[in-house]
Amino acid sequence: MKIRQYLSADGLFKLVRQGFAKIKDHRPMNVKVPLVDSLMSGLAMFALKDPSLLAFDERRARGENLQRVFGVEQIPCDTQMREILDDVDPESMRPLFKSLFAQLQRGKVLEKMVFMGRYYLASLDGTCYFCSQKIRCGNCLERTQSKTGVVTYSHQMLGVAIVHPDCKEVIPLMPEPIIKQDGEAKNDCERNAAKRLTQRMRQDHPRLPFIIVEDSLYANAPHLRELKRLGFRHIIGVKPGDHKYLFAYVAQAQAEGRTTEFEIKIGAVRHRFHFLNDAPLNESNQDVRVNFLQYWETVGDKVQHFAWITDFIVSRDNAFELARGGRARWKIENETFNTLKNQGYQFEHNFGHGENHLSVVFALLMMLAFLIDQIQQLACQLFQAAWQKMGSKRRLWERMRSLFYELPITSMSDIWRAIAYGFHIEGRIVIHDTS
Ligand SMILES: [Zn+2]
Repeated sequence: MKIRQYLSADGLFKLVRQGFAKIKDHRPMNVKVPLVDSLMSGLAMFALKDPSLLAFDERRARGENLQRVFGVEQIPCDTQMREILDDVDPESMRPLFKSLFAQLQRGKVLEKMVFMGRYYLASLDGTCYFCSQKIRCGNCLERTQSKTGVVTYSHQMLGVAIVHPDCKEVIPLMPEPIIKQDGEAKNDCERNAAKRLTQRMRQDHPRLPFIIVEDSLYANAPHLRELKRLGFRHIIGVKPGDHKYLFAYVAQAQAEGRTTEFEIKIGAVRHRFHFLNDAPLNESNQDVRVNFLQYWETVGDKVQHFAWITDFIVSRDNAFELARGGRARWKIENETFNTLKNQGYQFEHNFGHGENHLSVVFALLMMLAFLIDQIQQLACQLFQAAWQKMGSKRRLWERMRSLFYELPITSMSDIWRAIAYGFHIEGRIVIHDTS
């Protein structure tokens, strides 16, 4: 088995450690625990899927493994880690996402995700990962219930990931925290954060041809103009309730015979398409022209209906692909946020809130750990073999964690190898005691 070191957990941890080492320590000189060790310990906690910071702390006894696998020299206790990470500028983590992404390009792994010949589908969506009426920090979003006056504190972020309809894996890019200044109303918040996210995404990846896929919240004129200005293509959901003018316009065009309808059957599935190019987005933005595609998928008596706007000229040739691209949007919810919430990462668990940035920094470290896992899943045969052996992620994570905390190991590859092929590891370390 050929292992590409730079796409293995060990190579990626090393790269991340180098990146963390470049982040300037915000504290005075002569600190006990260096910033790089604190960040790396946080990443290790999420890579190992520890259920809490306390659980991670209790297992510091197995410090040699943290040192060998993650390169942590001085392991902070839980209080130290919280204090140190609380003042890290979340924006300083951006280069980490870029350097991990560059490994995927270097390994030609990204090519698996190419869509419609040359593009990458980037799915954007917001999520809430923290909500409380008691715990709060200076960067919490605040909402006051008008009737009761009760204030709810929360943290939300706008996530973005490269997705592909045929690919289970997703590649998260640097997410954008939704901040207090983004406003009180949920939709405004997300839209404001989207403006920052798309601009920064373009700065990070100036030449990548992206197709932005989003839900109907984003089918508005200012956002479409902004995407165009940044050189992004788009496929964005629209709803009859939110886009009455557009749907009425299409219905009128259909009555006049100006729309195109066709149907194809693949196996037991019927795919019906209905499209119109060059329609106004809404009454007040006649200059913003969109191409409209409507799609029905019928299996037996079950019918699913979707509608999108896009800047691709819709034709009989590309309608099916455009629909597949539009439908891949849900992968940011399902394969990204739901995986983070329910598949061992514990996105919604409060690992510590802090007074400034801790909550956001932990969320970003978790996203980095998730990205490293996704890269391994895409490109590391050893990881794939271990996963296959265990049958599920949950079992894989459990096994990984117990081996990490129970046995002396030198690398993550030792763990994957032990899980995939048994405990005797190439005669280097015999870690299975039969006595
Ligand atoms: Zn907060």
